[in-house]
Amino acid sequence: MRLILLGPPGSGKGTQAQRLVHRHGIVQLSTGEMLRAAVAAGTPVGLQAKEIMANGGLVPDEVVVGIIADRIEEPDAKKGFILDGFPRTVPQAEALDELLRKKHLKLDAVVELRVNESALLARVEKRAEETRARGEEVRLDDTPEVLTKRLAQYRSLTEPLIHYYSERRKLLTVDGMMTIEHVTREINRILTALGALEPKEHEEPKRAAKRASTASKAAKKTAKKTTKKAAKSAKKAAKPARKATKGASKAVVKARGTKKAAKKAGRKAASAANARKGAKTAKKAAKKLTKKRAKR
Ligand code: AMP
Repeated sequence: MRLILLGPPGSGKGTQAQRLVHRHGIVQLSTGEMLRAAVAAGTPVGLQAKEIMANGGLVPDEVVVGIIADRIEEPDAKKGFILDGFPRTVPQAEALDELLRKKHLKLDAVVELRVNESALLARVEKRAEETRARGEEVRLDDTPEVLTKRLAQYRSLTEPLIHYYSERRKLLTVDGMMTIEHVTREINRILTALGALEPKEHEEPKRAAKRASTASKAAKKTAKKTTKKAAKSAKKAAKPARKATKGASKAVVKARGTKKAAKKAGRKAASAANARKGAKTAKKAAKKLTKKRAKR
């Protein structure tokens, strides 16, 4: 599965990406995380990105595209990946398309987490608080001033991606204002419906299919049994001439019963229609035999 999580800062992309990673065993590729690591390690990319990130700007396209191009080559990305924070501009999206095309890889979906901007500041403040509480260093860009800038960048440079992916029929929007659990469930539901995931947590579709198949098998069995029974009665009815009429009418009654049973089975599964057919055949057979006997 290859997926993009799209949304403004604080929309929950990172949280949802981690949950998907946990559940599906694919990697999360967060350009923000990679850039922070580069800054911390003091690599040339880190040195170039440090100032830009601290000010809430966007690191040049060629830098992030280069990072992603290298990263998706790594063995752990073979099974699939979730892109979190990339692409952030239309040229980045075009570069990603080209990268995937060259590798003959398909993008399954782009999930947009839609949130009210008014909630974002509170979320980012909460994130900073939680980070502090864990004794970790708070991100330099998780301040109200920088967040305002990051939001402005999102609106002007990243939001056009909504149109970009919707035109390519890749975009799926999820209400990011729901609880974390609800958002995860909704993403999983969408991905399962797309065929990008096997039903796992929500076994319902599988179970329903199994139930339907069991019902169909049971209905088929019932139909077979009842048809056989009716045919047997018809055969019996063909014995003595006088008894034949009786037997035949019995067979008809049985066949009627069979018809009823077949109807019931038919309600359970369409395949039970055979039962009705069988019952009719039995009824006809009984009549035919009766006539034959009666003639004799
Ligand atoms: P994030 O952790 O995704 O919020 O990213 C933190 C910061 O890293 C952003 O504000 C940007 O400065 C930089 N950054 C992350 N991803 C990208 C990207 N795809 N393009 C440009 N800059 C990025």
